[in-house]
Amino acid sequence: MVTKAETVWFDGELVNWDDAKVHVLTHTLHYGLGVFEGIRAYRREDGRSAIFRLREHIERLVKGARMMTIPLDYSVDELMDACVKTAKLNRLDGCYIRPIAFVGYGEMGVAAMGNPTRVAIATWPWGAYLGAAGLTHGVRLKTSSFTRPSVASQLSKGKVCGHYVNSILAKREALLDGYDEALLLDTDGYVSEASGENIFMVENGVIYTPQLGSAILGGITRDTLITIAREHGYEVRETQLTRDMLYLADEVFMCGTAAEVTPVRELDQRTIGQGGAGEVTMTLQKRYFDVVKGEDMTHPEWYTFYQVSNL
Ligand code: PMP
Repeated sequence: MVTKAETVWFDGELVNWDDAKVHVLTHTLHYGLGVFEGIRAYRREDGRSAIFRLREHIERLVKGARMMTIPLDYSVDELMDACVKTAKLNRLDGCYIRPIAFVGYGEMGVAAMGNPTRVAIATWPWGAYLGAAGLTHGVRLKTSSFTRPSVASQLSKGKVCGHYVNSILAKREALLDGYDEALLLDTDGYVSEASGENIFMVENGVIYTPQLGSAILGGITRDTLITIAREHGYEVRETQLTRDMLYLADEVFMCGTAAEVTPVRELDQRTIGQGGAGEVTMTLQKRYFDVVKGEDMTHPEWYTFYQVSNL
């Protein structure tokens, strides 16, 4: 259950949490055309909070809206300010931030070109997406019977509301089968990504992940990990991967804003490596947490600071 906060930013106004409502004939509710983001803010040792890579998330939202032909009247800076304001007003020193741009009430045809675009930003506290134990000991993954739709049909570079039905089907199937998460292959049978995370594997100390020119989201955590792994001296290759490469890998891990860096200990009943969290995975996980929580400030451009006690 989402933990209720006080305020939601809605079309430029701050409204009470319980008043952030839409009409049942909201177009996106029926047809799924909308874009959203998942962003995290972390509390730091010095009492300040920092939203991690806020600009990149909001740029993905704004570009995603353009790609999906959703008119958006707000600039990146305006939406960034609105995220900070909402987190601050809700007195959340660490939180998940969910901006969404969607097609409102008006016409009910599929195109509904004249309907208003509505934008909302909600914030709430959210712990480890795949559980605290998963972060330490790893999770169990199942290759889904659902594939990621072809790059010709689905625009995977945006976080598009309706596209998530494919992820939901895969995730529900995995959970019903007793696994923690689903791995989706693409329509050619190559490894794509998990239902809400990008995927990596490690073999002989080299890190591999599917290339951007495939049916994956260009994850901001993926980009962060590639950057910090290379800075740490690891070789990272972005290339086509097959499920048997994952079965035989020394380590497999997933990453995303919500899931952070989660080791995979099992895929399709095959133990990965030693069956727990691998050494490279845990090195990167530690570095990732140091980076997002500000212990490691190698990239000052990644943070948007705010302080809750300043109110
Ligand atoms: N792939 C999918 C399908 C996702 O939903 C997410 C979560 N946004 C990711 C990858 C990871 O993206 P990010 O690191 O930007 O959160």
